[in-house]
Amino acid sequence: MKNICVYCSASNGLAKKYIDEAVKLGEAIAKHGATLVYGGGKVGLMGKVAFSAQAHGAKVIGVIPERLVEREAVHRGCDELIITKTMRERKAIMDEKSDAFIALAGGFGTLDEVMEAITIRQLGFHQKPIIFLNTDGFYNSLLEFFEQLYAQGFAKRREHCPYQVAESVEHALAFAFGTNATHVQHT
Ligand code: AMP
Repeated sequence: MKNICVYCSASNGLAKKYIDEAVKLGEAIAKHGATLVYGGGKVGLMGKVAFSAQAHGAKVIGVIPERLVEREAVHRGCDELIITKTMRERKAIMDEKSDAFIALAGGFGTLDEVMEAITIRQLGFHQKPIIFLNTDGFYNSLLEFFEQLYAQGFAKRREHCPYQVAESVEHALAFAFGTNATHVQHT
């Protein structure tokens, strides 16, 4: 049984391909018998993944700071709802409760969360899988930039890249469960 943390957009009105992917991810998390850990809101892709996961039988843990309860339309129907004082506390609880992290398409908040997961993994604080779910190449330009960091010596290549890139929901879950042996190779 795994707890899968999903970082994703809190924006509404996104293209259908991103919404469909969020719905598919929620369903797949449920089908794999996993629990969803997420930001606790009903807005954007966050709401889509959570409702889909619950509709297909997954347990959902929402973690939201009290200041965002209204702004992100807290999902009171979470199986477990944790209301924190601060953003930092939210991030820490989401991290602690999760066995793997998947980043769906998102904005600055999503990037902040996934980058922190990567940086602390690089420093050896955890070994949990971190996966970019690269819906329709959404993360391509960021991944190219990461290659520049390695090429120019701003990041060190280690045996395993600290993140993995999945082109489909099923691949993302295979990485999260450690059942896909393929690691992202640095070019
Ligand atoms: P966004 O990707 O900008 O739509 O944001 C996605 C989620 O990330 C929202 O629930 C934001 O509240 C959350 N978020 C934004 N900044 C932070 C942060 N510094 N720490 C934790 N969560 C954040």
